[in-house]
Amino acid sequence: MGIATVNPATGSEIKTFEPLSSTQVQDKIARSQQAFQQYRRTEISQRSKWLLAAAEILEHDKQKFGEIMTTEMGKTLKSAIAEAQKCAWVCRYYAEHAAEFLADLPASTDASQSFVRYQPLGIILAVMPWNFPFWQVFRFVAPALMAGNVGLLKHASNVPQCALAIEEIITQAGFPEGVFQTLLIGSSQVEAIVNDERVRAVTLTGSELAGAAIASSAGKQIKKAVLELGGSDPYIVLESADLEAAVDTAVVARLLNNGQSCIAAKRFILADAIADEFEQRLVEKFKGLKIGDPMAEDTDVGPLATPSILQELDQLVQACIEKGAKVLSGGHPLSDHAGNFYPPTILTDIPPGTPAYKEEFFGPVALLFRVANLDQAIELANSTPFGLGASAWTTDTEQANRLIEELEAGAVFINGLVKSDPRLPFGGIKRSGYGRELGIQGIHEFVNIKTIWIK
Ligand code: NAP
Repeated sequence: MGIATVNPATGSEIKTFEPLSSTQVQDKIARSQQAFQQYRRTEISQRSKWLLAAAEILEHDKQKFGEIMTTEMGKTLKSAIAEAQKCAWVCRYYAEHAAEFLADLPASTDASQSFVRYQPLGIILAVMPWNFPFWQVFRFVAPALMAGNVGLLKHASNVPQCALAIEEIITQAGFPEGVFQTLLIGSSQVEAIVNDERVRAVTLTGSELAGAAIASSAGKQIKKAVLELGGSDPYIVLESADLEAAVDTAVVARLLNNGQSCIAAKRFILADAIADEFEQRLVEKFKGLKIGDPMAEDTDVGPLATPSILQELDQLVQACIEKGAKVLSGGHPLSDHAGNFYPPTILTDIPPGTPAYKEEFFGPVALLFRVANLDQAIELANSTPFGLGASAWTTDTEQANRLIEELEAGAVFINGLVKSDPRLPFGGIKRSGYGRELGIQGIHEFVNIKTIWIK
C-alpha cells in the first residue's frame, strides 16, 4: 500500500503522498545528526519548557488532532480527542520528572567517587503503528527528547497526516530544527536507515513480522532495539469477582479503539461458576452498542483501520466457526455499510486447535473460555506465544497473589483493565517484545549508562 489517507468509514481516498527518495532520507539523517550536536548540550530545564509547550499545543488543538486521527484510522472522535490529551499528559510527566530520572546516580566503591551518568545516544529511529497514531509516538518522543536524543519517525503508511501534524507540534513547541523529523517512507526503506551508522538505536511498535525484521537488521548492526509487539491478553474472571464491574470493564477492555489495541482483553477466561451469567450480560452489552460514523458523538464502535485488517480478522473468526465455535453476537463483516465495519463479536465453545488459542484477534472479537479452577485459568492464560498484559478479577487476596506471581506478562492488573500510564513501565515478554516504555525505565532505554570512577 502507498502512503495515503483513506477514510476507513467510507473507503474514500482523501490524499496520497510521495515517499521520500533515498537522497531526501539521507539529507534528513544529516540534519538530525547536525541537530544532535547542538541539542545534546541544551539544558534539561530548557527541554522541559519545550515539552510543556508541546503539551499546551496538544491540549489547545485536541479537536483538530482528533479529527485527523479519526479521518485516517477510524477511531471514534471522542477517543481521539482523549488520545491527544493523554499525549499532553506524557509530555508534562517527563518535563517534570526527567531531571530526577537522569540525575547522576552515586555508587559506593573502591573509588574516591563513583557514579552513573546518563547520556543521550544520538539519532533514534521510531517505527510506529497506526492504532494510537499520536500516543505511540509521544510516548517515545517525550522521554527520548528529554534525554537529549533526536528522533526520526517512520509512521505507518495509513496515517501520514498524523505523522506530519506531530512534527509540526514539536517544531511549534520550539524544539530546534532537526530534533524531530517525520520521514514519509514505506517499510522497505527502513532497513537502510537502521543500517546507517549515524542512527544509534531503533524502537518499533507493531506486528511480530515487522519486529523480527527490524530486530534482525538492528542485530546485524549491533544496535539497541526496543520492540512493543502484539498481544492476546487474558481477562480472567474468578468466582469471587465483582461481576457487574467485571462485565462493564470487559466491554471497554475488548472494544477500546474499535478493538484494535495491543493490550485489549482478547481471551476471556471465566470460572465455571460465573460463566453463564458473565456471558449473558456481555452479549446484552455488545448487542446494545452503536456502530457507525466515528465522528458522531453517540458512536461506540467505528470501522477497522483498513480492509486488510478486516479480512484478516474475519478469516480468524471463520476458522474458529468452521471448527465448531458458537457465535453469540456478530460473526461476519457488516455488508450494508461502506467502509471496514465489523460488529462486536462474541465466540464461545471454541475448540482447541483453532486460532483463538494462539493468534492475536486485532478487532472487536471477544473469545470466551471456561475453566474449573485457578490452576486451569493460569495455564490457559499462559498458553499463548504472547506475554503483554493480563487482567484478573477476584476479591480473594491469595488468588490475586498467585495471579501476580504466575501470569506470564509484562503487566498484571487486578480488578481493572490493562492500560498504559506514563508513571508505570509498559512492555511485554515472550513474542510481545522486549524493552520498556514509560516510567523511569522508559527513559533509560535510549541512554548511555556511563560508569564514572575517580581515584
Ligand atoms: P505493522 O504492520 O507491523 O506496522 C507497524 C509499523 O512497522 C508501520 O510503520 C509499518 O510500516 C512498519 N513495518 C511493517 N513491516 C515492516 C518491515 N518489514 N520492516 C520495517 N518496518 C515495517 O503493525 P500494524 O498492523 O500497523 O499494528 C498492529 C500491531 O501492532 C498489532 O500486532 C498490535 O498488537 C501491535 N501493537 C503493539 C503495541 C505495544 O505497545 N506492544 C501497541 C500498539 C500496537 P507500513 O505501514 O509502511 O507498513
